[in-house]
Amino acid sequence: MLDTIVVGAGIAGLTAARLLHAAGQRVVVLEARDRVGGRMWTDRTAGFSVDRGASWIHGLTDNPLTDIVAELGLETVEFTVGSFQAGGRPIADHDESRRRFDRAATAQWLADVETADALFLDTIAGSGDDESYADAAERTLARTGWDAERADRVRVFYRHRTEEQCGAEIEQVAAHALDEDAIDGDEVIFPGGYDAVPRAFADGLDIRLNTTVTAVDRSASGVRVTTDGGEFEAARAIVTVPLGVLKAGAIAFTPALPDTVAGPIARLGMGAFNKVFLRFPERFWPDDVYAIRQHGRPSLPWHSWYDVSAVSGHPMLLTFAGGDLARAIEQQSDEEIVASVLDALRGIHGDAVPAPVAHWITRWASDPLALGSYSYVATGSSHADHDAMATPVDGALHFAGEATYGHEPATVHGALLSGHRAAEHILGAPVPLAELTRGLHPAG
Ligand SMILES: Cc1cc2nc3c(=O)[nH]c(=O)nc-3n(C[C@H](O)[C@H](O)[C@H](O)COP(=O)(O)OP(=O)(O)OC[C@H]3O[C@@H](n4cnc5c(N)ncnc54)[C@H](O)[C@@H]3O)c2cc1C
Repeated sequence: MLDTIVVGAGIAGLTAARLLHAAGQRVVVLEARDRVGGRMWTDRTAGFSVDRGASWIHGLTDNPLTDIVAELGLETVEFTVGSFQAGGRPIADHDESRRRFDRAATAQWLADVETADALFLDTIAGSGDDESYADAAERTLARTGWDAERADRVRVFYRHRTEEQCGAEIEQVAAHALDEDAIDGDEVIFPGGYDAVPRAFADGLDIRLNTTVTAVDRSASGVRVTTDGGEFEAARAIVTVPLGVLKAGAIAFTPALPDTVAGPIARLGMGAFNKVFLRFPERFWPDDVYAIRQHGRPSLPWHSWYDVSAVSGHPMLLTFAGGDLARAIEQQSDEEIVASVLDALRGIHGDAVPAPVAHWITRWASDPLALGSYSYVATGSSHADHDAMATPVDGALHFAGEATYGHEPATVHGALLSGHRAAEHILGAPVPLAELTRGLHPAG
């Protein structure tokens, strides 16, 4: 019999499988897609990399990915705007009349966000799980004494922050949802594509692609996992499918999951966040900026465009849709989406914006193997719910994946660390993360 079945070959599942395999266990990974990586997915059909899922390491300091990427010899480019920062790197900010901020306006804007963020933390210090980010933002702004336009700019920025960081509307997100959201150190992206990491981790593992798990039964003797390609038995299983898949009940668990795990699955939110990449025939935006940003009400729905030309080697901008907009565009044609993005961009740059020569658009909420982009702390839930999902069930069933990691949910490194934690639970001993890259060769 197998020791461990891992369901899902995303970064969490591959991490757990790799560490257990290195410890001498017999491990099989069952993956429904025809590829590994899950929400790390690099599209190379155009001859360069387009990361349709994760693209950033969100902060190199104290991040396990920093050493892993160095060990694997992967090329990175500094791009420290990945977490919806107000500044930190040059951004071409535009006011409500679409005029570019001057130096003083930029300084004022950064100071305002800093002031509001400090007040926000103070405001929510005593808040329970039921307060929404929207209510906390209003209580915060009421304390500033700012005029309407100044307060509204920060209000809209907070709205976009939850859309991007949580994939949800500000009213759906808990006031404490972004408590863990600090970025330590620079952020980087990958010219060669971020899925090089999961592809490297897959090396040497027994991974069954195109194998969809439909049921997991547990008993005193272990687990029986039912798939569309037969049954597998093992002493235990680690389930790493996305929270959206668990919420939809796509896998039947027998006996039913206990409340310690089922409660958080029900309470936490699964956000929607999509990417729209536009490749242009020539560059029309300033050379020295990381991003173009529209502030205030004109920023609805599209507001920030990131210059990702360094990845593709072509003039390319990336913009995001989060929350309701992300779900709405999934019902639209590519042409409608591109037209609406261009409309907003032309509001700033006018006729200088040419027709794009190519575009890439993601639709993660309609992907049946994701059913959303990443988890978030919804109103009525807490960060503790993330970690509670990882409570081992009857010693036979473990959950891992970004949604189970309360300290850094919704990230690649959070998912990786959740896989590491599951392996340590199973082995009952600390496992050095260095095991992950042992025997792997740097990229040529
Ligand atoms: C658009 C987007 C942008 C993002 N940007 C960033 C970023 O820049 N930086 C960052 O750190 N994070 C980012 N994230 C989040 C990051 O991608 C995820 O947190 C992380 O990749 C999740 O890994 P995981 O192993 O938990 O889940 P997944 O990668 O989703 O792996 C789970 C696997 O389970 C498989 N599966 C599902 N159902 C079944 C089934 N029934 N049977 C068998 N297999 C099944 C899936 O196919 C998948 O391969 C982004 C996510 C999205 C969607």
